[in-house]
Amino acid sequence: MTQRPFDVEAIRRDFPILSRSVRGRALVYLDSAATSQKPRQVLDAVRRYDEEANANAHRGVHALAEEATRLYEDARERVARFVGARDAREVVFVRNATEGVNLVAHAWGDANVREGDEVLVTVMEHHSNLVPWHLLARRTGARIRAVPVRDDGRLDLDAFRAMLSPRVRLVAVTHVSNVLATINPVADLARAAHEAGARILVDGAQAVPHLPVDLGSAGADFYVFSGHKMLGPMGIGVVVVARERHDEMLPFLGGGEMIREVEVDSSSYADPPWRFEAGTPNVEGAVGLAAAVDYLSALGMEAVAAHTRRLGARAREVLREVPGVRLFGPDPGVDSSGSVVSFTLDGVHPHDVAQVLDRFGVAIRAGHHCAQPLMRRFEVPATARASFYLYNTDDEVDFLARCLVEATREFAPARAGWEGPADGPLARFAPPTHTPPALPDPVLRDSAGDGESDREVILDHYLHPSGQDPVDGAQVEWWGRNPLCGDEVVVRTRLDGERIAGLQVLGRGCSVSVASGSILASELKGRTVVEAVRLLRGLKAMLRGEPLPGDLDLGDLTALRGLKDLPVRVKCALLPWTTFEEGMERAGVIEDAHGAESREATHGHA
Ligand code: PMP
Repeated sequence: MTQRPFDVEAIRRDFPILSRSVRGRALVYLDSAATSQKPRQVLDAVRRYDEEANANAHRGVHALAEEATRLYEDARERVARFVGARDAREVVFVRNATEGVNLVAHAWGDANVREGDEVLVTVMEHHSNLVPWHLLARRTGARIRAVPVRDDGRLDLDAFRAMLSPRVRLVAVTHVSNVLATINPVADLARAAHEAGARILVDGAQAVPHLPVDLGSAGADFYVFSGHKMLGPMGIGVVVVARERHDEMLPFLGGGEMIREVEVDSSSYADPPWRFEAGTPNVEGAVGLAAAVDYLSALGMEAVAAHTRRLGARAREVLREVPGVRLFGPDPGVDSSGSVVSFTLDGVHPHDVAQVLDRFGVAIRAGHHCAQPLMRRFEVPATARASFYLYNTDDEVDFLARCLVEATREFAPARAGWEGPADGPLARFAPPTHTPPALPDPVLRDSAGDGESDREVILDHYLHPSGQDPVDGAQVEWWGRNPLCGDEVVVRTRLDGERIAGLQVLGRGCSVSVASGSILASELKGRTVVEAVRLLRGLKAMLRGEPLPGDLDLGDLTALRGLKDLPVRVKCALLPWTTFEEGMERAGVIEDAHGAESREATHGHA
């Protein structure tokens, strides 16, 4: 393959989406760890396949079917070469990394894991390398144990070695952390696992896009990754199954393609990898993935890795300049890919960070990143995460830092959360200090209009929340939590007959959930329960984009109207209200008006 020089500007021209604008600004795409963008070469390969060769692979004797089969099997060969698999028959196409782990948990796990056995995971795993093992443990009675993560974001390798024992049947570990960018020494882990008689599955979802991966030397029994994080299409992923493991596995899904002979009451199976690919395969996905692999190979994975590492290092350098930033994970180097940087900004909730950045066209992630055990390990409900790839530039990294300064100026006066009950779920959070907001530089502000005035109402409630004073004699007290971001709220209500005589709303969360709680306290106090239910229904209708009942005035709640297009933030806005509602229902004050939204949050006694 002809090598191509690593020229970021030339690379960017291959990615049509990078020239679009977002909210009137140039798109700065820093979310490639969630999914990467696709170059023309991939888009063209998929389109060419659909226009010229689409047919069902493996099934027909006609020319198109043969061509589709050849393209599909050729993609398998190219992907195998790219990751250094010893044989293309080790490459099983699946939908994504998640399906790869589930395939192994069923096909290998069900046949090899018994009650009392152990599966060793790590605290830094993505949920997709945890939940399939939880399900296997439920099916088999096996036990899950987790290798701890050190303060610096590296795995505790001494603990790992100490936890290995003859009981461990499988080690399931990520190659590169999607939150910390830590590179785990998978070859060493594989050697140690094998010496202890265990097998090892490596989650390469964040490694294959960013590092030269050589499975020949990595020694993993199972290695999974997704096409959509490495310039390929969604819906195609890979699990590389070492040939020595083939005979230890049962089929995963049953159906066409994966069989040799079928009787009405029994069947025999095709050889791997086809044994594990039931049903019509995603041929266009495989073709697109092969084109992505060619694109990356032409640049050279060493060059791609060096570029990402450099951007990661620069990001950490400039973010350290921003007051109140806390960075997670090691600095880029031999044990960090630099492909992601996770951070928190003191006093600014990660959701608010992401939303301010979005206003400036910068796309990042905020939340638990499907790594809740790791969030707990670092005692944060969520982080913001910027991620980098071959098309990102130094200027984009610097712009990220500049926008964070703006986010701080907008929200930092609120520094930290609200005071919670002394022994309740909010106890560990510091009381707020409220100083007047410094609004951002006009250069970086949206044009005036509803959006601007709504934002000012939200910010005002966030910085000067109502409902902070204790209520004596509250009959109803309920706690709610949004598991997506860890926001929590306690609502205490004192009733005087039909009337809401006192409300206290204590919470810790983003500007939207805190402001919504403040509006709840100010709007509901003095109203009847029936009026409160009407307002709640009106809020839900507004957030679904439905018309309001004719005479209903939502007051300051109207400022939340722009959230209807942001489903994640809708949950933030509803949290205090559904917590109030569920508390009243449980207390028997109102009948079950309980909507789907509240079921998505976790509630309980405070
Ligand atoms: N593992 C890691 C480390 C990931 O980052 C991700 C995606 N965020 C996954 C697994 C799951 O990938 P997919 O959703 O494509 O199955």
